[in-house]
Amino acid sequence: MATVISGGKRFDSRQGRFVANGHLVIEGERIAALDREPEGGGHTTLEASGKTVIPGLMNLHGHLGWDGFSDLEAQTRYDGPLAYLKVARGLLAAVEAGVTTFRNVGCGHDTGLFARQAVRDGLLPGPTVFACGRAVCRTGGHIWWGNREADGVDEVRRAVREQARAGADWIKLMAHGYSQEEIDAAVAQAHEEGLPATTDAGKWADRAVQAGIDCIEHGGNYSDELLARIVEQGIWIVPTLSPVVLQARHGAEWGMKESVIERRRGQLAESGRNEGLVRARRAGVQFGFGTDSGSPVVPHDAILAEMETLLEFGIFDTKEQVLKAATHDSARCLNIAERTGSLEAGLQADVVIVDGDLEADLSVIERVETVFVNGRLTVQGGSSRLPDPRDFQTFVGVGA
Ligand SMILES: [Zn+2]
Repeated sequence: MATVISGGKRFDSRQGRFVANGHLVIEGERIAALDREPEGGGHTTLEASGKTVIPGLMNLHGHLGWDGFSDLEAQTRYDGPLAYLKVARGLLAAVEAGVTTFRNVGCGHDTGLFARQAVRDGLLPGPTVFACGRAVCRTGGHIWWGNREADGVDEVRRAVREQARAGADWIKLMAHGYSQEEIDAAVAQAHEEGLPATTDAGKWADRAVQAGIDCIEHGGNYSDELLARIVEQGIWIVPTLSPVVLQARHGAEWGMKESVIERRRGQLAESGRNEGLVRARRAGVQFGFGTDSGSPVVPHDAILAEMETLLEFGIFDTKEQVLKAATHDSARCLNIAERTGSLEAGLQADVVIVDGDLEADLSVIERVETVFVNGRLTVQGGSSRLPDPRDFQTFVGVGA
């Protein structure tokens, strides 16, 4: 049965502009049409006058196994199965915030892979998950307590192969402290497995770029020469400004230690990274959207803060650019723009209705009313609904 969304404004994420008529028809998993009524009767109509219809948002950098308020190392080391309950909470929070695609960039307990399966099988409502498996780092490297540690070319290759075997969609590399040869091996192995690779490169960005990385997390203050190579090679940057900004400004409310808050305030005042991101954008680097949700003070439904900060720091000039980054551009980063990320006939119905005029006021993004994920009504009246398992056909029998 078709669903017709009638009236309201629509965000055209390919062009980065709002159009007056939000009229849209969903049939099964797809957007059937934009401006015509479905054939025959019996369809459900959702009235969207005074509301805005947008493509589902994409969070390209999050950690579903982390809750968004506890210390990362403590929860990774001691949570055990509790991590999977955090995944469940994270999936609900993300989809209720209008996120229909979520790239999980590692965090221990293989939570991303299980999150992906839970949504795919209709166990829980949530966004479509792209999972990195375990991040690969050097022994004792960044977040080693949640990662697959590997040293040397052969071991790094093996670590990447393990993630591919487990079913990872992306390879996440922690480039910190790796040699050029090790980074080359990791990226080459990912590509041999048919997987793109991303890294939180910091000052190792030049090595990752040299190795042919596909995406850089967080970004940094790179030389003009490196930025030119990033543009030339079509490498994406996902800025993730939320942890520093939200911890510096709101850490106390969440019980964060004063010393950590002070450190974050220092990082916020030191503008090098932000200037670097502004320069990167001016140089023509492509940006995806990610919040680093799961980090302390960044719950999985915190979307507006990242959007506002991208504007506040001058990385984007208009809210339309930010919304385009969080939809169509992020879909291009994931190489799924022909499938989703915009509201067009024939595409997967990842559709969000927010209650108000988003063109007039960006904070309306927090008033998510209705969410369709892959054509399934997943959020209604702002609350997620349990999926009907009969829609998913995942019954697994034993024996004949
Ligand atoms: Zn992160």
